[in-house]
Amino acid sequence: MPTLDEFALIRRFFTDAHLPPHIKTGVGDDGAVLAIPANHKLVVSVDTQLPSVHFPADTAPAHIATRALHCAASDLAAMGATPVGFTVALTLPSADENWLAAFSTGLFAAAAHLQCPLIGGDTTRGALCLSIQVLGIVPAGLAIKRSGAQAGDYIWISGCLGDGAAALALLEGRLNLAEAARVYLQERFYSPEIDFDLGVYLRTIATACIDVSDGLLADLGHVCTASRVAACLKLHALPLSAHWRDAVDSPQAQQWALAGGDDYRLCFTAPAIHSALLQSRQNLVCIGEIVDGDGVTVFDKHGTSISSLSAGFRHF
Ligand code: ADP
Ligand code: MG
Repeated sequence: MPTLDEFALIRRFFTDAHLPPHIKTGVGDDGAVLAIPANHKLVVSVDTQLPSVHFPADTAPAHIATRALHCAASDLAAMGATPVGFTVALTLPSADENWLAAFSTGLFAAAAHLQCPLIGGDTTRGALCLSIQVLGIVPAGLAIKRSGAQAGDYIWISGCLGDGAAALALLEGRLNLAEAARVYLQERFYSPEIDFDLGVYLRTIATACIDVSDGLLADLGHVCTASRVAACLKLHALPLSAHWRDAVDSPQAQQWALAGGDDYRLCFTAPAIHSALLQSRQNLVCIGEIVDGDGVTVFDKHGTSISSLSAGFRHF
């Protein structure tokens, strides 16, 4: 069988035949052309995924693709943006058709699920590396930034924490769980749900927002730094999934929830006046409060501050 050349590969595995009307030109030209509605701003974010760093080296290609797109799209949700498209820069050791077919199937499934079409990319030969750039839009002035948190705001999280770390432990054979829990964690790892509707809802409610990718302590720390405030977290309020919380000892569970990362939940701050409304929404949990000062402090259920907590993941 003749080996695939670069352009046949792009046509076969990376060309979307059903682009939505706002994509005027997609894959196949020097650049993509997008129509942006009046009074909107463009939101852009890029994320790189490497084997053994962001996913286990033996991860199935379809899962590599779904995970990369979901993780990248998470940044759009955190800004209150809705997706308009994404580009992919793919470095591959070889043009393996089976690998490419599975990767492409996963990528297009995730793109359809997130309503975020593939509009371009770049393909090169080398050690496996995947960068996804997502583009989104938000009405002018309504992007939710990290810098707006104020003393007195409550801190909220959009779902269970620690799932990312628990999933990694499961995939690496450090955690044994029943079938339903395995399915739950694998889904959370390969296709973490991205709640664009929540981001949109929060545009006029949240004072600051971030998606939890490096760990709650680290990411909430970024909000505090950008907003020049401090955060008080209630350890006992952090929501943990019933799928795994009884299978690990509680210091481990707390460590995963605080610093495990890869959760892709939205952590946001909002004035107290919105609390009743937020409480009534499914999955939103109040986990602490913003105060004057700097840094993130964690309190146990007796109100005692806990020290010696390690922060989130850092590449350098
Ligand atoms: P150029 O040399 O002008 O940068 P390329 O030859 O790299 O263009 O790519 C040709 C077209 O294919 C472009 O529209 C580019 O966006 C698209 N493309 C390249 N690789 C991919 C990929 N892996 N997925 C999607 N689109 C891709
Ligand atoms: Mg060109």
